[in-house]
Amino acid sequence: MGIKGSSTRQVFFENVKVPVENVLGEIGKGHLIAFNALNIGRFKLGAMCAGAGRTVTTKAVQYANERIQFDQPIGNFGAIQYKLAEMAIRTFAAESMSFRISQQMQDKKAAATAEGKSYGQSMLEAAEEYAIECSILKVYGSEVIDYCVDENVQIHGGIGFSEEYTAARAYRDSRINRIYEGTNEINRLLMVDQLLRRAMKGKLDIVNPAWAVQKELSSMPSMDRPEGPYAEEHKAVGDFKKIVLMCAGAAAKMQMDGKLNLKEEQEILMNCADMLIDLYAAESMLHRVQKLSAFEQKAQPQEVYDAMLQVFLHDATQRMSKNATDALVSFADGDLLKTFLMGVKRFLKYPPVNVKEKRRMVAAALRNANQWAF
Ligand SMILES: Cc1cc2nc3c(=O)[nH]c(=O)nc-3n(C[C@H](O)[C@H](O)[C@H](O)COP(=O)(O)OP(=O)(O)OC[C@H]3O[C@@H](n4cnc5c(N)ncnc54)[C@H](O)[C@@H]3O)c2cc1C
Repeated sequence: MGIKGSSTRQVFFENVKVPVENVLGEIGKGHLIAFNALNIGRFKLGAMCAGAGRTVTTKAVQYANERIQFDQPIGNFGAIQYKLAEMAIRTFAAESMSFRISQQMQDKKAAATAEGKSYGQSMLEAAEEYAIECSILKVYGSEVIDYCVDENVQIHGGIGFSEEYTAARAYRDSRINRIYEGTNEINRLLMVDQLLRRAMKGKLDIVNPAWAVQKELSSMPSMDRPEGPYAEEHKAVGDFKKIVLMCAGAAAKMQMDGKLNLKEEQEILMNCADMLIDLYAAESMLHRVQKLSAFEQKAQPQEVYDAMLQVFLHDATQRMSKNATDALVSFADGDLLKTFLMGVKRFLKYPPVNVKEKRRMVAAALRNANQWAF
């Protein structure tokens, strides 16, 4: 063993003897522990980014309330309110995902422990089961915090660029999150790869749901609007699932027929990953907002949480449409492509939202609290 290099220090292990009592896990199976430690690391990174998003949003709103230009606080300007609201909405989405995954992993760990498995084994199983979700949170959280720190610099104007203030420091520090714990490109590849692998191994049924979506495409569309609490939102999330199934299912089928080699088509995999991220974020946010609707005591009136959810779904619908279209035109053509593109139009129909007014409502909640307010 030795330390090499003077400026960058690296530790190399060569022929190091480890006492038997110090061996962790099983010999020859260390990679399982290493990979699952990465999953936990990704979860923690994503949750940390959501926490940092709250802090940076607080900094931004305090400065927006304080800084006077054209005889008024810059927070009065719609352009600034847009940024504050977006920082809050995206952070809220990342937070919703992290709350959901942490509960799911805890439940899985508790179930494994109840079966008599050791603490280590139970943790390993929980991390393995939610590997896809951990990658999704890592990518989404790190991109949310990068958005927040960038807009925070912008809201601070010239002093945001100065290294003497915290905005520039946060901007610099945030950037690494998209690189370590697996770069965001690698994590995007991993989440789709894992999904397809689980489907191939029969652990996850995407073939039958994908087939059901294809069948639905050949039937007459229903004109009925959904009814009940958050019915349009549940429908939107259900439709996002259909879009993911349609695109991933069609691509997987072409791969099985030998007409496509997805390993060589990373652009399509990136589109699929981005759809998965939007789907998981939308669903997590919907669960949280609907749960909040049953609480009497909460930081904001329900209409503010509803506004955040509606703006997110409005934007996610457009992103889904672009990602699905980009993926489909990359591997399908002729009548098949026409049918799929019809599906994109048919399944992505979340009703129009006055996003300007909803964002203003969210920004007002932040400005009144003069800090993170949710
Ligand atoms: C501050 C800091 C702390 C770190 N801490 C740790 C630590 O504690 N433990 C640890 O193990 N590592 C750590 N790292 C290393 C970090 O995990 C790596 O830098 C990271 O995994 C990227 O690897 P790389 O730098 O070799 O980039 P490369 O692998 O060369 O990647 C360069 C670019 O190419 C892309 N790319 C690479 N391969 C593919 C592919 N197959 N398909 C598509 N795109 C691809 C990447 O996404 C990236 O955009 C740290 C790095 C930094 C900067």
